[in-house]
Amino acid sequence: MKGLESLIGQRFDKLEVVEQAASTASGQRRWLCKCDCGGSCIATTGNLHSGRTTNCGCRKSPDLTGRIFGKLTVLGRSDQRNARGSRTTPMWECRCTCGAITYKATDTLKNSATSMCSTCAGKYAAESARRAAGFVGGTQITKIRDMKPAAANTSGVRGVYYEKKSNKWRARLRFKGKTMSFGSYARFEDAVCARKNAEKVYFGAFLEENGLE
Ligand SMILES: [Zn+2]
Ligand SMILES: [Zn+2]
Repeated sequence: MKGLESLIGQRFDKLEVVEQAASTASGQRRWLCKCDCGGSCIATTGNLHSGRTTNCGCRKSPDLTGRIFGKLTVLGRSDQRNARGSRTTPMWECRCTCGAITYKATDTLKNSATSMCSTCAGKYAAESARRAAGFVGGTQITKIRDMKPAAANTSGVRGVYYEKKSNKWRARLRFKGKTMSFGSYARFEDAVCARKNAEKVYFGAFLEENGLE
């Protein structure tokens, strides 16, 4: 019976079990736990009982609240998690200089030279690629106007692809015969947002400069 007990409501150090989560592939039961820091995590019965999992991961990560990374100011820990293979990492709630709220993992903040929200990242990437690419010829206006998802697309949104290897959504844009990447995102809607912004910057300016809009 021990193996089937419900842990809901039980406390393990900083964690309180909220509900049962999907079991592991090998059948180990897992639980969604709320951490005292406001974060959350999913842990197996075994790891909770043995004390291997005692917090959401916040003990290992120093508090970044108030710190500034690029355009982002960290507002505090969030209960959002970033999927990374079989485990998830806690994310920080950040405010971008444009006012948008975005969620970033600790190492993303620390390792990225330019931290910003996906909207600003889309603009930034588009602008630098545009500068690098110059701005003549190659782009088919009819294709810009007829922006249906390509047949081989898996997401239903043109230029947004799911990459199995990284478990992420990638935003791309083909412009003037070149395919440009606008980042990879855990959340589908962030990739769509990046793609849309790239479209605005590229195609909008292109149509305008060519007197087509
Ligand atoms: Zn925590
Ligand atoms: Zn922004």
